Amino acid sequence: MSEKGIPEAPSLRAAMHAHRKPFHFVRKGLMLVALGLFATAGALAVVEPAEKPAVYTEQSVLPLPKIEVLSETASSAPFINETVIRRGDTLAALLQRLHVQESGLQTFLIQEPAARSIYKLYPGRIVRAALDHEGNLVSLRYDHTPGTRDGSQFVSRWLEVTPDGKGGFQAAEHEQVADTQIRIAEGEIVNSLFGATDAAGIPDHITLQMAEILSSKIDFLRDLRKGDRFRVVYETYASEGRDVGAGRVLALEFLNKDKTYDAVWFAPDSSSGAYYDFEGRSLQGAFLRSALKFTRISSTFGGRRHPVHGGWRQHNGVDYAAPSGTPIHATADGVIKFAGWQNGYGNTIIIEHHNNISTLYAHQKGFAKGIKKGMKVRQGDHIGYVGSTGWSTGPHLHYEFRVNNKAVDPLSIDLPVARTLSPAERKQFDTVLAQYRDHIQLLRGDGVAGNSEGDTLVASN
Ligand SMILES: [Zn+2]
Repeated sequence: MSEKGIPEAPSLRAAMHAHRKPFHFVRKGLMLVALGLFATAGALAVVEPAEKPAVYTEQSVLPLPKIEVLSETASSAPFINETVIRRGDTLAALLQRLHVQESGLQTFLIQEPAARSIYKLYPGRIVRAALDHEGNLVSLRYDHTPGTRDGSQFVSRWLEVTPDGKGGFQAAEHEQVADTQIRIAEGEIVNSLFGATDAAGIPDHITLQMAEILSSKIDFLRDLRKGDRFRVVYETYASEGRDVGAGRVLALEFLNKDKTYDAVWFAPDSSSGAYYDFEGRSLQGAFLRSALKFTRISSTFGGRRHPVHGGWRQHNGVDYAAPSGTPIHATADGVIKFAGWQNGYGNTIIIEHHNNISTLYAHQKGFAKGIKKGMKVRQGDHIGYVGSTGWSTGPHLHYEFRVNNKAVDPLSIDLPVARTLSPAERKQFDTVLAQYRDHIQLLRGDGVAGNSEGDTLVASN
């Protein structure tokens, strides 16, 4: 899309610029790898970087296809006014901002059943008006559903209103299946995971998946360190050149302290997909590393030690400082052995698991509805809320992991994995893995990262 092709009123240029960005090459820092592939096209096609990059928090993507050309010639091109819906906006205010002057339009929009999607003005969504050189409306478009998952597809829906040529208007709903794009991004952790993913332009939805996928390997609330690095391959959806949503993480590598964890999405029969490490071992761990879910709020690390308890050895547990009321989840399947008050521990739940393992969750504000002794729970079930009951100076979860009734450090033990692939599946898996392997394996000292050749930032080097 050429900016010259569409004359814009100068006052609108600034407002439009922000929305134009997706049309251009998304680029943060230097280009590392341009991965030009569309999932529907099948195999990966990769454009190698022309030169080695000097920085390594960035993201790249090929220019997007199917850009709608609004007009061929500048002389007849309409003005495109665009506005973002604000909280508390009214239809009248929107039309005013769009410089739409048609007197009957607002009445039409209110009365016409085919235009009823405009009754709901969702803050943050976009309304566009195309006007001719006399200021007459050419079309009005409301992107009310920029992207929703519909089975395996991602679909955008919008309302379009145009003059009917008889002095009135007509309204119609349109939809389009979004294009799937695959992106590679990487980053280094300075203060928090979200800080690093924001800098790399990675959507929150993908960041949370990263934490979820490795939740049996890394405790994202406690284990992250400055200098940890990651590289991720993921899907995004675009419609007419705009990002409309994020899909699934396809492959991930995460260097935490001096250990590298990897994951790849694999669906042997296209219906039951799961994440596996590069050796083909399931990442569906028997235990989660943490009973609290990783969120944007908990992203920042530092100050992990609880003022009362300090280190691990003094009190046989791990403390997680978290706002009062934060949900607590069972770290594995089991049966509730105890739910009540214990001296010092306050409101406490103990869950009994297989292999003589039990987990304990203390200082709770209260228990989740229906929680009682003898009840079965599944991994990830909500069991209670972070509080400060018992011997505690501030809201936190005290979590213990016991083997044969003896507390062990849950962060230090290698927890068992659930599933391995059959030889036939393994062959399929290797094909899938090969698509990502070269692009993801930056963290293993292949010399891509760093400020000069051969100067990698991997701690062990
Ligand atoms: Zn504690």
